[in-house]
Amino acid sequence: MNEIIIATKNIGKVNEFVQLFSEFNVKVRSLLDYPEIPDIIEDGQTFADNAVKKAETISQVFGQTVIADDSGLIVDALDGRPGVYSARYAGGEKNDVANNEKVLKELIDIPDSDRNARFFCAIAVANPLIKTKVFEGICEGYITREARGDNGFGYDPIMFLPEIGKTMAELSSEEKNKLSHRSAALRKLLEEKNEWIG
Ligand code: IMP
Repeated sequence: MNEIIIATKNIGKVNEFVQLFSEFNVKVRSLLDYPEIPDIIEDGQTFADNAVKKAETISQVFGQTVIADDSGLIVDALDGRPGVYSARYAGGEKNDVANNEKVLKELIDIPDSDRNARFFCAIAVANPLIKTKVFEGICEGYITREARGDNGFGYDPIMFLPEIGKTMAELSSEEKNKLSHRSAALRKLLEEKNEWIG
């Protein structure tokens, strides 16, 4: 069976990737299986820069196919923030609750009509034998006035999807995987999977 490594220690992302790959004959590992590998510093200007850096660095370590995603929330009324700084937006260690509170506070005076936002995901696939490729996906929605829902991770509780009438955190993992930015990018990657899964 072919094996790929997902270059993340984020359990929320790992679970999503495992589910997204479940219909393929591919064994999915992640950096949760390799705790000794240090976090890669994400110092790129774009999601794609960071995804490529993570995928190529870890692919060189293991000599095999590695997928890395870099993703985040883009809020128009905040001039695109938190953007590439989504994970540590409130400062210090990664803290989803503090990040959500910061966004809600910054938007307190913004009317419902101007609270549009999108999740963005760049997925890079790197392999020592092929040129690194990047696939991108987005998921559009609105920022709520309070956190709602217990599923998912990150900004899911404050991201409202008008066509479903729920926040991302109120969706089951199957529902989220049908419409998330990550699944949109991964679907594009899987269309070309014969080029990189051996
Ligand atoms: P990364 O690990 O540098 O890609 O950080 C991504 C950050 O963006 C996460 O820590 C979350 O705060 C946010 N994020 C990315 N994808 C999602 C998602 O699917 N739901 C909610 N938040 C997300």
